[in-house]
Amino acid sequence: QEKAYIDKLMEALETGYNILNNGGTALDAVEKTIHVMEESPLFNAGVGAVMTNAETVELDASIMNGSDINAGTVAGIKHVKSPISLARAVLENSKHVMMIGEGAEKFAEEQGLEKVENKYFFTPRRVNEIREIKAKERNKFDLSFTERDDLKFGTVGCAALDKYGNLAAGTSTGGMANKRWGRVGDVPIIGAGTYANNKTCALSATGHGEYFIRNVVTHDISARMEYAGQSLQQAADEVIMKRLIEQKGQGGVIGIDKNGNIIMTFNSEGMFRGYITDKKEPTVAMYSENKLNQN
Ligand code: ASP
Repeated sequence: QEKAYIDKLMEALETGYNILNNGGTALDAVEKTIHVMEESPLFNAGVGAVMTNAETVELDASIMNGSDINAGTVAGIKHVKSPISLARAVLENSKHVMMIGEGAEKFAEEQGLEKVENKYFFTPRRVNEIREIKAKERNKFDLSFTERDDLKFGTVGCAALDKYGNLAAGTSTGGMANKRWGRVGDVPIIGAGTYANNKTCALSATGHGEYFIRNVVTHDISARMEYAGQSLQQAADEVIMKRLIEQKGQGGVIGIDKNGNIIMTFNSEGMFRGYITDKKEPTVAMYSENKLNQN
């Protein structure tokens, strides 16, 4: 299983690399890299996303362009094959930033994006997972809305810097397993799960979304760089390794700054992650070993 994750992360990194190396934009690289992971059953995004309490899949995604701080985000998507492409269509082809549910699906149709049955996203692993969570809940009379056995968080994201000096970031997810009542996480909230600004950095987060929303995590990291002159690593450490830990909020961020410094900071047990630079040596990692070398 680990090999499958490593191979898929390598494929995703190489996809992004090839786009950037051929003169593509950071936005293109982010969308297409996330695409590779949405289509893989390994991650909590697209096929293989976690299931809601009603045993459906509801997807959230966002993408942001650092050069003009324009963004597109979608939430509660059930039938659009690629939520990240829909988020990009919101960014580029609408006057809005965020679309939800049926309206967003209607917009997807108008944009000619591929629609699928909700079942398209189901995998046996996730069906078993939701049934187990619900069985435990019944036994314990515990109505806490989520219970995860893996604290690795499988949301997918990407941050990129292109040849033109532009940054972009995107994130795609099924959210938290067993979510109810139209719950929306941090992923489609700009400044919480995703943020990009050419003045500072591009960031994508994974973790317990409620904490990331309340702490406006990705914007906080960017703001610390912009207003307090912190480095990307210092800012991420303050937010992820201090603030969130104080609150018992689990998760992490991946990011790149305008000078190409890369961070992958998390306070959870693991975070599947990787990076690739213009030297084309992809690096991936899964468990602790919190900091990767600065580029
Ligand atoms: N951050 C996502 C959410 O709360 C979940 C995850 O990262 O796995 O919706």
